[in-house]
Order: sequence, then C-alpha cells, then structure tokens
Amino acid sequence: MSTTAVAPVVDEDVGTAMHALIAELYPICRSITGDGLRETLRRLEAYIPLTIHEVASGTKVLDWTVPREWNIRDAYVKNSRGERVVDFRRSNLHVVNYSVPVRRTVSLAELRAHCFTLPEHPDWIPYRTSYYEEAWGFCLTHQQLQALPDDEYEVVIDSTLAPGHLTYGELVLPGGTTDEILVSCHACHPSMCNDNLSGVAVATYLARYLEGEGQRRRHTYRFLFIPGTIGSITWLAHNEDVVPRIKHGLVLASVGDAGRLHYKASRRGTADIDRAVAHVLHHTGRPFETMPFTPYGYDERQYCSPGYDLAVGCLSRTPYAQYPEYHTSADDLDFVRPESLADSHATALAALDVLDGNATYVNQCPKGEPQLGRRGLYQTIGGQSQTRGSELALLWLLNLSDGGHSLLDIAERSGLPFSEIRRSADALLVHRLLIPAAPSTKGDL
Ligand code: ZN
Repeated sequence: MSTTAVAPVVDEDVGTAMHALIAELYPICRSITGDGLRETLRRLEAYIPLTIHEVASGTKVLDWTVPREWNIRDAYVKNSRGERVVDFRRSNLHVVNYSVPVRRTVSLAELRAHCFTLPEHPDWIPYRTSYYEEAWGFCLTHQQLQALPDDEYEVVIDSTLAPGHLTYGELVLPGGTTDEILVSCHACHPSMCNDNLSGVAVATYLARYLEGEGQRRRHTYRFLFIPGTIGSITWLAHNEDVVPRIKHGLVLASVGDAGRLHYKASRRGTADIDRAVAHVLHHTGRPFETMPFTPYGYDERQYCSPGYDLAVGCLSRTPYAQYPEYHTSADDLDFVRPESLADSHATALAALDVLDGNATYVNQCPKGEPQLGRRGLYQTIGGQSQTRGSELALLWLLNLSDGGHSLLDIAERSGLPFSEIRRSADALLVHRLLIPAAPSTKGDL
C-alpha cells in the first residue's frame, strides 16, 4: 500500500498570528470566573463573533453549583521595611487562584505555612488554585522563599469572592446540516501559555478560518471557550437539546510546545473523530502518538462522561501534566512556538476537513470497471506525478463505493490520504459514476 506523506499545509503566518494573540492575552489574570476571563473573551471578540454568556453564581449545573465570582486587584507580601517581597503586579501566579481576601501581619513561620514553591525548579513560580475550598496563599520561587529573613510580614490579598457570574464564550457557525462538530478549549488559567492560551489561540484561528468567506461547511461548528471542568459542566447542563446533535468533537489543550502531537481518543475509541485525527497524523509522515481514553485530563472528561459519551477526543502536543513547565511560570511566551501552533492548527483543520468531507457513495457502474480513459478521468485529476495515486484512488472508490463504505473507510483501507480520495470522489460525482448513498438508518450518534 502507498503511504505517501501528505502533511497538512502549515501556514507559518498563522503561527505568528496565534503567538501574537497569546502574547496579548498572557498578562491577564484569568480564573474560572471573574473579570480576567471576561476581558479575555472580549478581546477574542475582535477576532471572531463570540457570544458571551453569563451564568449566575449558585446555579445548579448537573452535580455542581456555579461558584461565587472571584476578582482580584492587588496582592503582596511586605517586609518590615515596607518592601514588596512578593508582588502580584510582577506575576499573577504569585497568588493562589481564588484566594479569599486577607490583610494582616504574620510571622515568617505563619507566612511559610501559606507559601508554595517548587524546590526542584528553584526559580520557577508554581500555579496553585483553591476553587472549591476557602483558602489563601502565595506562590513564589523557592529562591525567594529561602531568602526571606525572620521578620514581621504584612500580607494583603485584595480580592473579592462574591455572588456574580460564570462567563463563557460560544460561537456557532451554521452549516449545511444541523449535525455539529464541537471544538472546545479552557480559558481559565492566568499567565501561562501552553496550558491554556495555546488552545485558545488555535481554536480562535480555526474559527476564523471556518467562518471565512467561501468556506463551505457541511456540519455546523460550535466553538466553546470555557473555564475548565465547571464550564463544560455548565454548558452541558444548559444544552441538553444540543448535545444529541454533536457528532464529533475536539478538545484543544497544550498545542503550542515543541513536542510531537498526541491524540487522546474519545471514550468510544473508534469514533470518526478518532479515526480522522489518526488518519491525518499518520499521513504527516512525522512521529506522533495516539492514546486511549482516560477519565483524566481536560474537558473531554465531561463530554465523555457516560451520561453523554460524546465522540470527543483531545489534541495536544506534550500531553497533560507530562512536561516540567506544566502549571508553572516556565510555561511562558518562549515555551510556545509559532511553528508548533501552526502545525497543531493545520492538523486540526485537516481532521475537521476529513469529518466534513466524509460521505458514502454508490458506484453507478458496478459491473466491471467503467472505462475511465474515455471519460478523461485519468487526465483530469492532479498533475502527471500524482497520476498513479489518483488512478488508485479512483479504482478504490469505484470498488468500495457500495453504500457500505465511507470515504474515510476507503482512505484507511487504500492507505491513500483522505484528501486524495475526496478529490477523486468529486471527479467521479461529476461524471455520475458515484451518487450519494441513501442516508444511513443506523443511528450514528
Ligand atoms: Zn491546567
């Protein structure tokens, strides 16, 4: 079988643009609720026509409750000389995300009990959260902590935790059918780039591309920019009517580092999204990994919970929590690369193309091979150098288009890239050698 490497077309300019978007959003102190998340979504509105939803604190969502809204203006630790030895204005990672307000004077021993560091990376600041338990704390480099002398320290966290809203962004791009493809990313982390701004940037530029003029969409596309876990739970709770229309989905997270691409399959394991991403990755000719579903990671946990069991996988580069920079200040603007972002974008787009272009046809001349030369089909497809692959694609299509094999089935079985199979199918459709199969009656949710 031919396994010609056909890498998705990587647009370096898009990589640069996505990196610039990450740089724009990087300074904002986001959380699972609050003005940082809101401002992030408002800035995305300059790129794509997002709808911003607000869900009130206290709203019951599945087994959860939308929490109080958290906002923060300033935070610091001051020594007895009045110097800020830990300063939120230098890095928003310095405050445990969702810290309750505090303003008091403490001894070094008491301060240390509220400090988090990474001794194994003494110049990195860790990222810590306390969403569902009232607590306060500071995150600092281990070097900073060790340099603190015995003293009286003024600790101030000027935050509020009060009834408000959970905010999320949604964009629906209607297609030829109401069957949907979901693209979801979390947008709730403060100043870190791979987790989670890379997913935000790639999702934004996928949406920009798909809503572009002249884009023919068979599926309806739904993009979600949500706080992790509570955001997908809130969306699922409020969209029970939409859920059955979601036929395929992709969570994008950690898609900007220099590592190879990893795809974690949906809970179903052999859904079209699983096959489409694996197919595209295989044809890049570059190293990649596919992994089975685990109930651990990002929002695919919620989409793939048994009450929904949606066909949603997760595309990453180095996977969840498997790099030392994960959830630290070292996940910065240098850790994400334009070329990695561009490659992730191209790969996701190619997988969406497979899902959107997949269809099942029936050969109208199934007895013997139709005479392709007479119809000019050998010459009409591709350049001279591609003729062999195109001929093969035509022959595979004519042989397997019996109403029981989709184009993706044929691409997998022939070893030819889907794009080649799709292009050849279009030529056969023009010549009425293929016609669309009657809609499948086997429920394909
Ligand atoms: Zn994270």
